[in-house]
Amino acid sequence: MSEKNILQDALTRLSNIAKTNKEYNAILEALSQPQSTLTSHIAIRKDNGSTAYFKAYRCRYNDLLGPTKGGIRFHQDADQSEVEALALWMTLKCAVVGVPFGGAKGAVTVDPKKLSPMELERLARAYIRAKADFIGPQLDIPAPDVYTNARIMGWMMDEYEKITRTKCPAVITGKPIAFGGSLGRDSATGRGAFLCIEALARKLGWDAKEKTVAIQGFGNGGYHCAKLLQDAGFKVVAVSDSKGGIYSKQGLDIESVYSEKQRSNTLKAVYCQHSVCEDVEHTRINNEELLALQVDILVPAALAGVINAKNVSQIQAQYIVEIANGPITAEVDGQLKEQGTHVIPDILANAGGVIVSYFEWCQNRQGEAWPEEKVYDKLAAYINSAFERAWQRYQQHDDSMRVVVYKLALQQLTEALEAHGTADYFSVN
Ligand code: GLU
Repeated sequence: MSEKNILQDALTRLSNIAKTNKEYNAILEALSQPQSTLTSHIAIRKDNGSTAYFKAYRCRYNDLLGPTKGGIRFHQDADQSEVEALALWMTLKCAVVGVPFGGAKGAVTVDPKKLSPMELERLARAYIRAKADFIGPQLDIPAPDVYTNARIMGWMMDEYEKITRTKCPAVITGKPIAFGGSLGRDSATGRGAFLCIEALARKLGWDAKEKTVAIQGFGNGGYHCAKLLQDAGFKVVAVSDSKGGIYSKQGLDIESVYSEKQRSNTLKAVYCQHSVCEDVEHTRINNEELLALQVDILVPAALAGVINAKNVSQIQAQYIVEIANGPITAEVDGQLKEQGTHVIPDILANAGGVIVSYFEWCQNRQGEAWPEEKVYDKLAAYINSAFERAWQRYQQHDDSMRVVVYKLALQQLTEALEAHGTADYFSVN
């Protein structure tokens, strides 16, 4: 989008989907604005002694289904509209997969690559000092998002505990394991997307070995999904990061590419055995070329709005599985449907992260630490049952998967709204 108003885009999509069903009028009105957004101007001491100021947001979009939940991102382009759109999507995401949370999101407008590790720690702590009254284990529970990670969550939890003079691991999820983080949280977003692709493959009778995948974005979600897909026999032919991508017709060895990227911070098409790596035949491509590849499954796993009016006609993939939040702008939903491109939408495909966050919160509140296998099994149960609900409805209606999944979320939220009492209930006649 040229003018960045991502919340407006998200709300337009939501009302386009819901407006034909009168039963969604009440929930549409409830979701037409966030419940509350706390914006702050936070300061940190830089290593050179100067003071730097940053805009920091936390939006609690809607808490009908429980305490609000959602990540905090550190990104130079983050703004209030984006945070609020992301918080709306968290509301729908939690509803559709059946975790008892409302939706929230937070952000600091900062390029974290320009901060030293100690400046990053000060920023994480300053964020919590500004938001401590707005969050809490039974109120609003942050987690990692773009360019934040377990270590940052650990600093944030520690700051919250200092302010409240309590031990309170359940205030934040995605923490280091040593602070009460859950096994399996790190890979959860990628695993959730992989489980959706596996479910799709079962429904369509696919043979994994015949299916090619391109993944835009090789961060946490993209990497874990790519790895699980390769292990299951899919051919991951292309991956990219913010600097560009690599394409190899015979498929990439994801673990080799990942360890090379960790080592040199560069995406290289390599195959490694132990510590010896050799180059494999490949072509260097840019992100636009990756999105336009003729593959069976395209997985946008980076930022919002990458598939839009400018490039939608170039999309050749038959299936798009959204690991990123909002990678497709609402204005092209219709055209993708006409082109015959099926989309597994973000609020289902990337819900693995918040599902395991919910498990982490449960473990913290119960004083438990679950084995990895239990986390994986329970995650699969949540994703598979949400996928199955969506698939049943998808088979019965002429709606896209996105429309189906949105309607399931709205239905869930409507039930909660109605439990407070409806006009019929309160009418005196
Ligand atoms: N940031 C992730 C998301 O967008 C995870 C949120 C969470 O675990 O609360 O879904």
